[in-house]
Amino acid sequence: MTASRLILPGAPIGVLGGGQLGRMFAIAARRMGYRVHTFSPETDTPAGQVSDVEITGSFSDLAAVRAFARDVAVVTYEFENIPVEAVQAAAELVPVRPSETVLHTAQHRFREKSYLSNEGFPVTPFRIVRSKAGVEAAVKELGERAILKTAGFGYDGKGQRKISSTATALEAFAQLGEQEAVLEALVDFECEFSVIGARGLDGAFVHYGVIRNDHRRHILDVSTAPAELPEGAARQAVELARSVMERLQVVGVLCVEFFLTCRGETLINELAPRPHNSGHLTIDASLTSQFEQQVRAVCGLPLGSTELLRPAAMANLLGELWRTGEPRWESALRDPDVKLHLYGKTIPRTGRKMGHLTALAKTPQEARRKVLAARDALSR
Ligand code: AMP
Repeated sequence: MTASRLILPGAPIGVLGGGQLGRMFAIAARRMGYRVHTFSPETDTPAGQVSDVEITGSFSDLAAVRAFARDVAVVTYEFENIPVEAVQAAAELVPVRPSETVLHTAQHRFREKSYLSNEGFPVTPFRIVRSKAGVEAAVKELGERAILKTAGFGYDGKGQRKISSTATALEAFAQLGEQEAVLEALVDFECEFSVIGARGLDGAFVHYGVIRNDHRRHILDVSTAPAELPEGAARQAVELARSVMERLQVVGVLCVEFFLTCRGETLINELAPRPHNSGHLTIDASLTSQFEQQVRAVCGLPLGSTELLRPAAMANLLGELWRTGEPRWESALRDPDVKLHLYGKTIPRTGRKMGHLTALAKTPQEARRKVLAARDALSR
């Protein structure tokens, strides 16, 4: 690693996107003495609120993106749905990490799944569908138990429909606006889990082990670390994550989401080339959080220890918690091993991620129990 590639504390880092991932990244970066500029179409964003400079602009305004990039030493992004043209415009002026190729691959389900399967990684059987006839053919090939997902711009269960017959598949296709979609065979899984890895500019790789993820209505609900998985599955998943990051030459943080099927296979569900919701517990439970790790990786610094100091569990706080008024924060915090994170969002829409709680304990089960009890206490 040459000294000239280092971006040292004091330098400005640019973040494309203004959500909670950008917020927690900015907090980690500023703690280390970096300056943070954010760019997103909104103002007073979760990330912008804690940054040095908040730029409001459209990702399609490439002149604005270039002006933003000109003022920073490196650019990263905090969600996948950034138009790749914006990232390319920034990359003409400063390093963008992870690269635009990584983003381009991961932001489109068909491209991502095709890449993974062509490279020999284990994924769910899938087909691209672009027409009603295509839907019918795909259902015939994959079977009637499947999920239809829009190919681009989906997150947190948005743009997804479970289907159970050709008729429901066609209905789902119509509901999704007949846009390009991927039909995926339904996986009978034992559990879902993720591996978050980080890769430095020098190719060094670290990971946070396996984290168990429980979803509700296609949205992550609770994450628990370490996940209690068969030893072989955990080892295989870490190896797959390392290999994906190596082949894509990722510089930064990337999360690989997995299914452990009822037959004991490990399948990749999807990739996120950024810190991930399942890694929020690393803020309180790991020596180096996933956000600090991203700062280190994109700035060319050595990566930090990913040691988990204590088992931990994280529970998301969605907008519906506000339905009967302000949650009772003081009740959740009665347990001294529980930590509160709120993202500065003022409108608590249903399904919107407003914050999370993390609990630390002696065992992962106890941490999970504690975090669920704390979340329950919010609305009691
Ligand atoms: P995704 O946005 O693709 O990560 O999907 C969100 C959630 O929906 C996943 O975490 C699973 O809980 C569920 N899901 C997605 N795809 C499948 C599948 N092929 N089989 C079973 N469950 C799925």
